[in-house]
Amino acid sequence: MKNLTKEDYLSGKVNLHIHSNYSDGKADFKEIIDSAKKNGYKLISITDHNTVEGHKKYKDEILITGAEFDCWFGYVFIHLLAYGIDVENPALAPFLAKTKAETEGDIIRLFARRNVPKLIKAIHEAGGIAVLAHPACYWAISLEGLVKRLIKYGLDGIEVYYPYPRFRKIVKFHSSKDVKKIADKYPQLIQTGGSDFHGENFN
Ligand SMILES: [Zn+2]
Ligand SMILES: [Zn+2]
Repeated sequence: MKNLTKEDYLSGKVNLHIHSNYSDGKADFKEIIDSAKKNGYKLISITDHNTVEGHKKYKDEILITGAEFDCWFGYVFIHLLAYGIDVENPALAPFLAKTKAETEGDIIRLFARRNVPKLIKAIHEAGGIAVLAHPACYWAISLEGLVKRLIKYGLDGIEVYYPYPRFRKIVKFHSSKDVKKIADKYPQLIQTGGSDFHGENFN
């Protein structure tokens, strides 16, 4: 993942933020993989909310493991992406959804009580990296302050290439430019991207 470039993300041949019907997406996990291969993708990650069930069942050379965890970080509700995790690692178990609703309902997921420092630690223990998803969406007075606090707890990356206005009526509190600027300021952060696909036919 470290040697992926901006062009990889913008060309659409790398997409590290995809949802399947293991959470609130509409597409079948296996069909996403098949379609990505057919369409010449270099690398994808399916990042269902709070679950790795799909990855336990299906593996592929173009697929890296992933999940998107809902958590409160102080007074800010954030989404944390995990990549490259060993999905069988027991360190992750306490953070995974206990019910189907916890993978689907935005409202239910708002009640998530995941401790961010502990989650990042668990992601690392499972051999993965932790990436802050769609940072422009967070209701933090200082986005950079939020990122800095997360770095202190071991944040590895930041999702820079993200189609903000296009999906799920997402409310933006900061601009994509702000995100890129912050990401560039902290070069230790890996810059990732994905479409946050929730649809039926992945292509
Ligand atoms: Zn999200
Ligand atoms: Zn997502």
